Amino acid sequence: MDTGRKDFVLIIEDEKKISDIVRAYLEKDGFSVRIAENGSEALTFFREGPDIIILDLMLPDMAGEELCKIIRETSNVPIIMLTAKSGEEDRIKGLGIGADDYMVKPFSPRELVARVKAHLRRAGKTRKKILSYNRGSLRMDLERHEVVREGSSLQLTLTEFKILTALAENHGRILSRNQIVNIVQGYDFEGYDRTIDAHVKNLRHKIEKDSKSPEFIQTVYGVGYKFIGTPDEE
Ligand code: CA
Repeated sequence: MDTGRKDFVLIIEDEKKISDIVRAYLEKDGFSVRIAENGSEALTFFREGPDIIILDLMLPDMAGEELCKIIRETSNVPIIMLTAKSGEEDRIKGLGIGADDYMVKPFSPRELVARVKAHLRRAGKTRKKILSYNRGSLRMDLERHEVVREGSSLQLTLTEFKILTALAENHGRILSRNQIVNIVQGYDFEGYDRTIDAHVKNLRHKIEKDSKSPEFIQTVYGVGYKFIGTPDEE
């Protein structure tokens, strides 16, 4: 899809030497990158909706396998595992823990980047292009940047469109203002999180019948926003 944002790669790796070099290669290729150094940080960043995850098996606070299982409970995001010990390779093959791919250390960062791109291409083919909620009463065409409410096309600004699709694609999950800024802009921008409220207010005027009892964007006080529309079945 093209909402103008960079593909977001979450690297979960406690060895700084490795994560730094992988980050450098990915950023050079136009990716937006976040590094989590342990499992709990990884779960926080995971809520920002990465497009792909690079996951080291040996983390200080949690086994990579465990983390992979937790992620798989709510997400089909592509996961490439990094393994160090010989024998882990076989374990991954055998366990079927939900990783899409793995690389054995030491690996070539260029090859890792190539695999990241291949997985994103594959995932992109299955990614939904049309999102539809509440029996077709709200429809978003992610390729054409079109939002239709009760049959009429809405005029959304690009930022409003990005916020709406970010929330919808993270359906049921709370996104903080900071997370929304990151998803929409691809990087932190200090102070911008407060203006998210203004954008959401405008967005609600356009998509909600009654902003006081929203059907789509719920405010979670002190935390952020959550998309609560009911997805239509295919
Ligand atoms: Ca490690």
